[in-house]
Amino acid sequence: MRIDLHSHSRASDGTQSPEELVRAALAEGLDVLAITDHDTSEGWGEAERTAREVGLELVRGMEISTKHQGRGVHLLAYLPDPTYPPLLAQLERVLEGRRSRVPVMLDRLRGMDIEISDEDVRRASGGTAATGRPHVADALVALGRVTDRSEAFDRYLGAGRPAHVDRYAAPLVEMIQLVGDAGGVSVIAHPWGRSGRRWPGERELAALRDEGLSGVEVDHQDHDVDSRRVLRAIARDLDLVVTGSSDHHGTGKVDHELGVNTTSPEDYHRLLDLAAAASARSGRRTPEVVRP
Ligand code: AMP
Ligand code: FE
Ligand code: FE
Ligand code: ZN
Repeated sequence: MRIDLHSHSRASDGTQSPEELVRAALAEGLDVLAITDHDTSEGWGEAERTAREVGLELVRGMEISTKHQGRGVHLLAYLPDPTYPPLLAQLERVLEGRRSRVPVMLDRLRGMDIEISDEDVRRASGGTAATGRPHVADALVALGRVTDRSEAFDRYLGAGRPAHVDRYAAPLVEMIQLVGDAGGVSVIAHPWGRSGRRWPGERELAALRDEGLSGVEVDHQDHDVDSRRVLRAIARDLDLVVTGSSDHHGTGKVDHELGVNTTSPEDYHRLLDLAAAASARSGRRTPEVVRP
């Protein structure tokens, strides 16, 4: 069984429609795909229809922008009720932060004689509510200023680069609780990121588990072999679910092909058991796993 629990569509910064993403997962030979766009469930409906049509097991989730101890943390939320008002209110704040950041980034670029309009960004994003730096990057590519998203981040949009602008992110502990109250489960995405910094470490992860965190994404392209080994041992020690995923963005991110990392059936089923328990506890109407 090949299980990939982290992927993006054009509902955020992936380059495929939800339908194309689900079809690509099937073509890749995956048995289970989770669609986890940034800060939105916008792609769920189309992904669900396609999964039923083609016969792929689909988990509906999202990757929520949060902050913990002053640092950004991406939180994967699986199977929460997306209509739970306190969750929606936090997501709306994050999306508003995304919207209001765009003109500031464009001003910074204008200061460097790079003329990109709101309309150029909208064309790149297809109008998603989860507009992000990758869409500004695509506009820079369209203008011929850079060759790909990576170069746009390296030169203009990445942390510490001249057009980088911070935005609102939800408090991590509050978000873990909200996801649980919405009947879902949470998993920290690529916890040690590409900086190579081994934070959050065992102590922080133990505290987050006590707040309701269910798992950590260990097998991710941003983690090298040694980081994976150490993080896996910590996760097992803390009895956290261990996941592995591609974090696929279509052609938007190289080396993140669907299925490049996968989650074991044991960990996947444990995650689903935890989700079923959270759903029952919450009393919310949570999305089912779509099964062929
Ligand atoms: P934002 O959500 O607007 O803060 O932008 C962050 C997103 O940009 C993340 O989801 C990453 O997938 C993407 N990203 C970050 N660095 C790069 C890169 N070097 N190349 C392509 N995408 C990137
Ligand atoms: Fe992304
Ligand atoms: Fe992420
Ligand atoms: Zn992601």
